[in-house]
Parts: sequence; C-alpha cells; structure tokens
Amino acid sequence: MKITAIETHVCHARMRNWIFVKIVTDQPGLWGWGEATLEWHTRAVVGAIEDISQLLVGEDPRRIEHLWQMMYRQHFWHGNGIVRGTAISGIDIALWDILGKVHNVPSHELMGGRVRDYIRLYCHLGGGKMEDFYETRPDDAARFGELAQKAVEDGFTAFKSMAVPETMPLEGLKPIRYAEACVKAMREAVGEDIDIMVDCHARPSPLMGMQFAKALEPYGLYFFEEPCWPETMDDIALIQRAVKTPIASGERLVGIHQFRDLLEKRAVSVIQPDITHCGGLSEARKIANLADAYRVAVAPHNPQGPVSTAASIELGFATPSYAICESVHNDVPWRDEVVSEGFTVEKKGRIVRPNTKPGLGIEINEAVVKKHPFQQEVLQRTFYKDGSVGDW
Ligand SMILES: [Mg+2]
Repeated sequence: MKITAIETHVCHARMRNWIFVKIVTDQPGLWGWGEATLEWHTRAVVGAIEDISQLLVGEDPRRIEHLWQMMYRQHFWHGNGIVRGTAISGIDIALWDILGKVHNVPSHELMGGRVRDYIRLYCHLGGGKMEDFYETRPDDAARFGELAQKAVEDGFTAFKSMAVPETMPLEGLKPIRYAEACVKAMREAVGEDIDIMVDCHARPSPLMGMQFAKALEPYGLYFFEEPCWPETMDDIALIQRAVKTPIASGERLVGIHQFRDLLEKRAVSVIQPDITHCGGLSEARKIANLADAYRVAVAPHNPQGPVSTAASIELGFATPSYAICESVHNDVPWRDEVVSEGFTVEKKGRIVRPNTKPGLGIEINEAVVKKHPFQQEVLQRTFYKDGSVGDW
C-alpha cells in the first residue's frame, strides 16, 4: 500500500480558509481527509504541504508514527513552527483516517478504544458568527447577556466569550470594570448551572492579566483562557497560583516540548492543543498523556472546519482527561453541505455521540468546496488609541 498524492483543497469560509488535506493511495477508493487550516497563512501552509509531499509519496500510509518522524525531522529544520506544524498536522490527521478505513473501525478504536459515552461541546457567543464573538462592544454588557441566553436556547451548557477588552500594557480600572460587567450580565442571564469561559486572546500584559483574573474570580468561570502571551509561561503560572479559576492555554503551541514547558511550570489547569497545529492526532495523544501525569485537563482549540472537529472528537473518545470540545456551527450557512459526519450531535445539551464509521467517519463534498475558492481572509487587527500595535 502506497501514498500516491497529497492534495490540498482550500475552501473559503469567511473568517478562515479551511485547508482540507486529501491523501490518496494506490488502493482503489482508499483516501484520507485531514485539515490544516491556519488563518492568514493559507498559501504558506499549502506550500509547506507540497514540500512535505516529497518525503511521503510512495510510502506506506499505515506507518503513521514513522511518517510523522520523517515529516518532523527529515528536512533538517524540525517541524515545530506554526506553518510546518500545521502542515504536518493536516497530513497526520488524514493518515489516521486512512488507518481507520483500512481496519474498518473508527479512529478512536485504534487509540485504545472508547473511554466515555459522549463529549460535551461548547460554543462561542454567536455560535461562530465573528461579529458577535469578536465585535460585541465591551461597554455593552447587556448584549453579552443576550448572546449568552441565546447559546443556552441553542442547547449548549457551556460557552465562551471575549469579555476582556483589548488592553494597553498599563490601564486603570475601566477595562476591568467592563469585563466584570460583561461576565456578571452573562452569569445573571444563564444562572449557575451553565459553564462560562472567557478568552483573553493573550491581549493583556501579565499584570493586567492578573487583575482581570482576580476581578473575574467570583463569577466561577469554567476556565480563563490565555490571560497573557504564551511566550511568558512563568507569568501564566503566577496567575494560576493567584486564583482558583482554572487557567487555560496552548492553542498557539506546537509539539510536545512546548507543552512540556507549560506543564512543568504548573502554569495551567487546562491545556488547549489544536489538533490541526500541534502535530496532529499523533502529537496530541502524546501531549494529552503528558498532561495526564500532571492531572491537567484537555480541551482542544477547535474553531476551524469540520475535519478539525471530527479529529478533535475522535481524540476525545479515547482520552480520559478530555473535558470539553470547542465548536462553531454558525460561521457559514453551508457548513453542513461540505461534510457528512459519522458522529451525531444531540441538540439538548449539545453532546456528541461516538462516530460509528471507519476512520474519522467523514466525507468532504469536493463539489461544494469548489464553490468557495480561496479568498484573502478579512483582516483582524488592533491598534491602541495612541496608534501603537496591540493584540487582536
Ligand atoms: Mg483562544
């Protein structure tokens, strides 16, 4: 059995170009789907996958770990940067899809079998509509409450918000009070049975991140995400020591070594590997196992396309420390036309029942993908009021 081609199929989905990876084999009807979506880096990732193809075409797709080692190590520059890491991830996911199809079992059965009956999904405020999630004004707490209520009406028992505004390295109380008011409005709208998450997008400086974390501690957040840059893990650790709120981070990290550093510093209570960036399902499994040694929960970052979701779900059914999965359902109205899925989502509670089809259980409709060719992603960026560059 041999790999004969590695194709990329780019599908423009408004905020992102989904990069689907199709690995074709010499066996009739046997191929695998992966995803390597990296917003604002689409051409670079497509090029990186083309570069890696040189290593893999002609190889046996069933030797996933062997091929992973080749991708990571055999072009001299280790695959631990975000572009190469994302390219490797997309290919690795497709290999797990193929292996499941070869053995006629869902991929999670190849990872030790099912460890739970269902997986809980959480949504973004607005369900993936970028204006609701990213552009609700921090002085409009009532709108945060309305969107929170809508998430619960849509069946979710957990949701994430961006209630921490863009913040200069030093600011007074105003942004803190905005964040408090938004979280208070959401808590009052949904009560205490619903889990609320706040993502800081690593906007604050470490000390501002600390102030936000302390101000929001009374609201019992499920987790508080990226309170400052992932480059400053020691500062994330200080924040985690200062509050009882679980701190989460990891969506920008690639490879087990970066997660090792995060875990060794006891910086977080939740890691958020992105299976389409961290090194694919192969590396995500190693990262999850490492986190298990620290009793740290896994909640994958997953705002991208449907193959990313399928891979995140397969991992969850085989990973004991997996807590919850990020999801978007309202980013483009034709999302369901692009993919058929092997798992089922129950509307009440938005819980996922296991995939019963081979591999990831999905098929991508290439004709629908072709209707949405590459377009440059909408620019999202921040300048502070003095004109200096901030984090979006
Ligand atoms: Mg995030």
